[in-house]
Amino acid sequence: MSVTIGEIEAAAARIAGRVRRTALEPSPTLSEAAGAEIRLKCEHQQLTGSFKLRGATNAILSLSEAERARGVVAVSTGNHGRALAHAAKAAGAPCHVCLSALVPAVKVEAVKALGAVVHVCGASQDEAEAEALRLAAREGLTMISPFDHADVIAGQGTLGLELSEQFPEIETAVIPLSGGGLLSGVATALKARRAGAARVIGVSQERGPAMAESLKAGRPVEVTETPTLADSLGGGIGLPNRLTFGLVKALMDQLVLVSEAEIAAGIRHAYWAERQVIEGGAAVGVGALLAGKVRSTGPTAVLMCGRNIDMALHHRIVSGEDVDLLDG
Ligand SMILES: *Cc1c(COP(=O)(O)O)cnc(C)c1O
Repeated sequence: MSVTIGEIEAAAARIAGRVRRTALEPSPTLSEAAGAEIRLKCEHQQLTGSFKLRGATNAILSLSEAERARGVVAVSTGNHGRALAHAAKAAGAPCHVCLSALVPAVKVEAVKALGAVVHVCGASQDEAEAEALRLAAREGLTMISPFDHADVIAGQGTLGLELSEQFPEIETAVIPLSGGGLLSGVATALKARRAGAARVIGVSQERGPAMAESLKAGRPVEVTETPTLADSLGGGIGLPNRLTFGLVKALMDQLVLVSEAEIAAGIRHAYWAERQVIEGGAAVGVGALLAGKVRSTGPTAVLMCGRNIDMALHHRIVSGEDVDLLDG
């Protein structure tokens, strides 16, 4: 099972005008630190504050009219829910979002404000998932996975197309990794456009890296969810994973894990050196680079993919406080 470059190109045409084409900015400080040309893909400036709008918009526009009229449901750590709510509203479709109690309040409010019905259910992503499946069966809603869905992956892949157009000489892409929809789509696009020349590095948090644990085990496994600054990267990849486990395994060239301190360093660097506000999940690539965990010799794009962070928390981090969410 795969997603083709043709499907990604079709997605780009479908969502054009509904999502923003985001900037690619040079980073002199990171280039100096890494000894290679580093550019930052500023996808945190996407509408709704994350790349998730690409996949959600493509998935909703790919439904039949009858399916769209019945509505959609999603389980989300926040950014997918927010994106789906936005895309559903734009397409006139009802939207339900199931969230676990770990999701920050700022993200819950944002989804509600977009007109979605929010269900807070359980202490984990898996419990929220069970509730979403019940809702889907009862009300005839279409379940849209945040990552394990061909139309979502094709939508996220449009980010890779954009990168290949803005940065034709790109050799390495550094991509935050959780369920792997983002990495699968971007890697498919880059490897089609830059055959043999594009290397894709995934970066996850050390605390509960579901894809890393699954790859090690050779099959999707559950992880214990632990509070992390990279809250968008929390949660499992789904035990019945259909697409992204195989795609990430086939397409990813290297996997890097970063600590909470390295994520915080990424948030600080983005703010003080690049003048950008990004969330923890979007800071893992910058953090990995600063920690010397990504060795790149050629033109490299580091993806900053979201900015939906609690601003009081952001303030504490950039002010130099040593924030550890495990301390409560
Ligand atoms: C969803 C998300 C990710 C991870 O995307 P996957 O497709 O699940 O790998 C990374 N960063 C942010 C900000 C996200 O919202």
